[in-house]
Amino acid sequence: MAKIILLGAPGCGKGTVAGRLVDELHIPAISTGDIFRKNLSENTPLGLKAKGYMEKGELVPDGLVIDLVADRLGEDDAKDGYLLDGFPRTIPQAEALDGILAKGGAGIDKVFYINVPRDVLISRIAGRRVCDSCGKTYHVTNFPPRAEGTCDVCGSGLIQRKDDNEDTAANRIDVYERDTAPLADYYRKTGLLVELDGTAGPDALKEAMLRELS
Ligand code: ADP
Ligand code: ZN
Repeated sequence: MAKIILLGAPGCGKGTVAGRLVDELHIPAISTGDIFRKNLSENTPLGLKAKGYMEKGELVPDGLVIDLVADRLGEDDAKDGYLLDGFPRTIPQAEALDGILAKGGAGIDKVFYINVPRDVLISRIAGRRVCDSCGKTYHVTNFPPRAEGTCDVCGSGLIQRKDDNEDTAANRIDVYERDTAPLADYYRKTGLLVELDGTAGPDALKEAMLRELS
């Protein structure tokens, strides 16, 4: 029954911990990045609009993102709670979310802010590999698959996201610091913010989050 926001730089481990947390809480994880990537791979009109921004590591314009999330939060499985991974990412997005929630009633329960030093972010992103089919993520040295280049879960090939090269990753972190980091203050003022050390690893992070929620 929780409504949770995950806040943190690219490579901080949001996606990984999101998967583990929702498995326990039985709420959907809503990742705007995943939604855009799916649209991109299916060449939908939304995917085509988002493509150029994503490949440069820029943010997709607020208008496109906000409508998408408003629709997604209106779906049945999101009635009792959800975990937002990658949204909001700008102050206007956070204000829009407040507007959406005010219409629907109950608000956010916790905002987890995951801190990771910049050099760790870059090496995590540059070494990240993703299953082409089921989306599971690996890291070439920190969390390698059993057989190189092959997903442990489904046997499909692993790929590197187009925006996971070092140059684009550095730009994404700069964009994060400029546009998204100010959200920490936004949510600190509401008393919802919980800061966590993202170097602790996904299971320790998940346990810390569960403690905060209980
Ligand atoms: P990461 O957090 O690792 O950078 P995501 O998978 O969350 O990656 O997002 C990938 C890309 O999708 C972003 O760089 C951006 O272009 C776009 N995107 C995702 N969520 C948003 C959002 N809330 N607002 C604007 N752009 C977004
Ligand atoms: Zn797989």
